Amino acid sequence: MSKTKFIFVTGGVTSSLGKGIISSSIAKLLVARGFSVTIQKLDPYINIDPGTLNPYEHGECFVTEDGAETDLDLGHYERFSNVPTSQANNVTTGVIYQSVITKERQGEYLGETVQVIPHITDEIKYRIKLLANRGEYDFIITEIGGTVGDIESLPFIEAVRQMRWELGSDCVVVHLTLIPYLAAAGELKTKPTQHSVKTLLESGVQPDIIVCRTEKHLSEGIRNKIALFCNVSPSSVIESIDAESIYDVPILMREENLDLEILKKTNMPYDQDPDLTDWEQFLYALKHPSCEVNIGLVGKYVELKDAYKSINESFIHAGTSNGVKVRVQTFHSEFLDDSNVAEKLGKLDGILVAPGFGERGIEGKIAAIKFARENKIPFFGICLGMQCAVIEFGRNVLGLKGAHSTEFNKATPYPVIDMMEMQKKISGLGGTMRLGSYPCKLVRDSKVFPFYNQENINERHRHRFEFNNDYLETYTNAGMKPVGVNQKDNLVEIIELENHPWFVGVQFHPEYKSTVARPHPLFVNFVKAAKDYADK
Ligand code: GLN
Repeated sequence: MSKTKFIFVTGGVTSSLGKGIISSSIAKLLVARGFSVTIQKLDPYINIDPGTLNPYEHGECFVTEDGAETDLDLGHYERFSNVPTSQANNVTTGVIYQSVITKERQGEYLGETVQVIPHITDEIKYRIKLLANRGEYDFIITEIGGTVGDIESLPFIEAVRQMRWELGSDCVVVHLTLIPYLAAAGELKTKPTQHSVKTLLESGVQPDIIVCRTEKHLSEGIRNKIALFCNVSPSSVIESIDAESIYDVPILMREENLDLEILKKTNMPYDQDPDLTDWEQFLYALKHPSCEVNIGLVGKYVELKDAYKSINESFIHAGTSNGVKVRVQTFHSEFLDDSNVAEKLGKLDGILVAPGFGERGIEGKIAAIKFARENKIPFFGICLGMQCAVIEFGRNVLGLKGAHSTEFNKATPYPVIDMMEMQKKISGLGGTMRLGSYPCKLVRDSKVFPFYNQENINERHRHRFEFNNDYLETYTNAGMKPVGVNQKDNLVEIIELENHPWFVGVQFHPEYKSTVARPHPLFVNFVKAAKDYADK
């Protein structure tokens, strides 16, 4: 195969146009043509990673196999392309500066004045090429966070300019902009796009392809106008019309020949069409569900649509594979208690208690779990959700009054959830949790075993606290069983309840591993249980 090609995706006019979805769609189309592809996100903020960011800032923090806490766009990359990402796939300004400053302190620059150009831009280029150095990929797609013209993204755009100059046709720049529709004038307007391309040009970058986000179809005339004013051929003006689902976008981009334009510009073969049969089947199933199930998502960031992104997407995958539409209703755990759970959660077919940190809303989660347990409603607890299930069981079944996690009450008489030994010595925040993929051994004689149908599984983690093994026997004897255990550190990873149709708590995050091609077995079976419950 020829050498790696680089695709840069920049954004203009406004944020939230869907660069991540366009990048993921490009990846999907190239993978469907048999190319090997990876996607990387460059984020212009100064945090080292989004791990310490409040979900209100940037939504969910996505975790990779190798334990990187990353931008949620990496979740889209994996869900679309089915290719796992890694630490190297998300680079922030913070990472770039940290490594340049470290090198400076170690004398690596031999007395030079350390500057944005070339030192920062070289470091950015190094991080982009790092993925290519692995020799595994035909294409590296690099999404530049933010909007062109932002002060923060200037060094990244400059790195793109330099790479284009160095690489010629091994490199292509895709610019995503907005074509707003002015209802009063009854017209689509190209001016903001012209301006954003001019802004890119001021930094020396001529986009090769312009993807136009729009709510109305682009006429031939509009396409020609954009081509003329932005120095691209009309075939390089790609319409990205608002879609019913993000999963429609690869098909729409295929119809617009976005993949073909990229292949032509990078001198790559395009004699074979992408094989999208599976994707089309998925889309058909997504749009033709046989019935609906109602699942309650109990968490404390429910007002924020991106905070539980991967969980919501996992429900789409799992619903589709069950032929049902999963309607996810959110419930703010701060406003739930024993007196109102029946009224609020009574009509649901399944209850999922979300991951999280901090004490706010914990008692509401516990009330929701008690309700699900007592009324035999399918229950799925993820990370903090599992920990709350353990606390609930301790307090209400085992009679351990005041049982708690030491995350919330250090003086609890029954610390049924406690900090992991390995976490006790750690002081700083950021990348210090138990992160990424760890093995887990399933008990053959368990309800979850057939879901996976294998004894040894690997799942991704992001936590500091853990089931306290001092209570293992008491819990097991009373019917809350550890059915998945990390053998090396003896950590309980999965609990399930006897005498309940579906009550599973997992210390890991299955939502990070669900993709269109491979819906996560726990979500698939949870939705199935919810459907059975609804049928009854
Ligand atoms: N706060 C809990 C812990 O650190 C749960 C974390 C989570 O839900 N991701 O263990």
